[in-house]
Amino acid sequence: MSHIINFSAGPSILPKVVFEEASQAVLNLNGTGLSILEVSHRSAYFEPILHEAMALVRELLGLPDDYEVMFLSGGASTQFFMSVMNLLPEGKKAAYVDTGVWSSKAIHEAKMIASIDVIASSKDKNYSYIPKGFDISPDFEYLHTTSNNTIYGTQYQSWPDSPIPMVCDMSSDIFSKPIEPHRFGMIYAGAQKNLGPAGVTLVIVRKDMLGKINKTLPTMLRYETHIQNESMYNTPPVFPIYVSMLTLRWLKNLGGLGAMQQMNERKARHVYDVIDSIPFYVGHSVPEDRSRMNVTFNLEDAALNKEFQTYCEEAGCDGLKGHKSVGGFRASIYNAMPEDGVKILAEVMKEFALKHA
Ligand SMILES: *Cc1c(COP(=O)(O)O)cnc(C)c1O
Repeated sequence: MSHIINFSAGPSILPKVVFEEASQAVLNLNGTGLSILEVSHRSAYFEPILHEAMALVRELLGLPDDYEVMFLSGGASTQFFMSVMNLLPEGKKAAYVDTGVWSSKAIHEAKMIASIDVIASSKDKNYSYIPKGFDISPDFEYLHTTSNNTIYGTQYQSWPDSPIPMVCDMSSDIFSKPIEPHRFGMIYAGAQKNLGPAGVTLVIVRKDMLGKINKTLPTMLRYETHIQNESMYNTPPVFPIYVSMLTLRWLKNLGGLGAMQQMNERKARHVYDVIDSIPFYVGHSVPEDRSRMNVTFNLEDAALNKEFQTYCEEAGCDGLKGHKSVGGFRASIYNAMPEDGVKILAEVMKEFALKHA
């Protein structure tokens, strides 16, 4: 294996043991003599994998029985409109909080097919904070939020006290810490940040959110289709589901989401401590809303950006270039990023600042 430390925002790092087990399964799945890539999704080879993945999702998140778990295709971006089609009855409105590019895309898609209100936004300060203290009318059907803003490096550290269920895009921080399921009527997440390879989307819906739509939706766009068929109405993304299952096993063996949260807090502190102690680095997010998954920062002197990037790459730190909406740099330190990787980055940042002091 290379010594490269991958700070990419997504697709992104997965645990080394998962890469090893997944590559073994491509050659020979559990000693069957078959590759995971060639087995039927309706076979005794795959069904136990799917069921284990679903059971691990339930167990790790602590989902009560009235939540349904689906593994779908189309990415989180498909859920931007599929959620609206399935959950928002005609004549009702949904509320949205705009905390960045991904929320804005969710809002854009929803507006094309339904009536929604944006009730809070942090656009005024380039999404560097999480809006708080806004009123949420119980007349809305649900409140759409984005738990972690991958591009801006902000994350809800506490949830608004919502009188209506939340529908939440958790693509970039799902399984990074325990959640309180009762707050959410629906949760969705593209796998490729914290769960597995690109190609599968985890969708969780509480049963009482469904059955309110009068319109007939195309079969593939109805959650009921996928619930009734246990995510096997059509061919599911077999390999991404398999790898996700391996990642969930890894998480469980590690001690689950409580243990993961402690590790993630500790990892994030290494980088934020450097940002807070060296004025050479300027964090994008306000401190109280800082993401434990994506650390965004600029150099005080942007003329040094190129040199900093090269310096990091020479130290093996890859994928740090920030998104164009924020500029500068972004260290994505998802669950699978080892603490040693983050420590190396923190050291590299200190050295580079010293060099230019
Ligand atoms: C990456 C990301 C998305 C986009 O996911 P796709 O699976 O590519 O559609 C949506 N929301 C958030 C918060 C993300 O980080």
